[in-house]
Amino acid sequence: MPRTPGHAANGAEPDAGKLVGILALQGDFEAHAKMVRALGAQPREVRTPNDLEDLDALIIPGGESTVMTLGIEREGLAEPLRDLVSQGTPVLGTCAGMIMLDREHLGLLDVTTRRNAFGRQVRSFEADLDVDGIPGGPMHAVFIRAPWVAERGPAVQVLASVEEHPVAIRQGNMIAVSFHPELSGDDRLHEMLLAMNGTG
Ligand code: GLN
Repeated sequence: MPRTPGHAANGAEPDAGKLVGILALQGDFEAHAKMVRALGAQPREVRTPNDLEDLDALIIPGGESTVMTLGIEREGLAEPLRDLVSQGTPVLGTCAGMIMLDREHLGLLDVTTRRNAFGRQVRSFEADLDVDGIPGGPMHAVFIRAPWVAERGPAVQVLASVEEHPVAIRQGNMIAVSFHPELSGDDRLHEMLLAMNGTG
């Protein structure tokens, strides 16, 4: 069945039918797929370079960044992922997904991240977080062995911080957060992703 074009010119829902790839090598991609579907877009699990064709947006989920890195290498996904995002396709990276986008991994976000940054004792916690660009009050954010942004270049905009460490950032067409929006049922970041139109 042909999908509905992402950019309806007839005044219909602008998000209707957008095709959203979710990197599905490892991690909690299913919760993201559910959220994307609930917003009226179409999720597609991405496991090989072919799965990246025709995507309107991409999500890199949380999980384990070391395992995800191996999967990306094994499937030859690094270069195709870089191409897709460099062309302006909107991307949302959450938790390990933020790490995958950083300078030391895919090299797309001009940041370094610190893994498991909140330390051993506070490996997981929840917080209500005001996120710049997200209207309607704070987001309930679930942090699970979360990273934070350690260093960043001038193009990186900080959207939210915890104890002065950036945990939500944007750089052009890329949004990255340290927490798990797909677990708290707050779909506003996914909505923001769907509202981005591929030009950053
Ligand atoms: N600690 C994980 C890592 O370093 C990330 C945790 C997560 O994605 N929830 O890859």
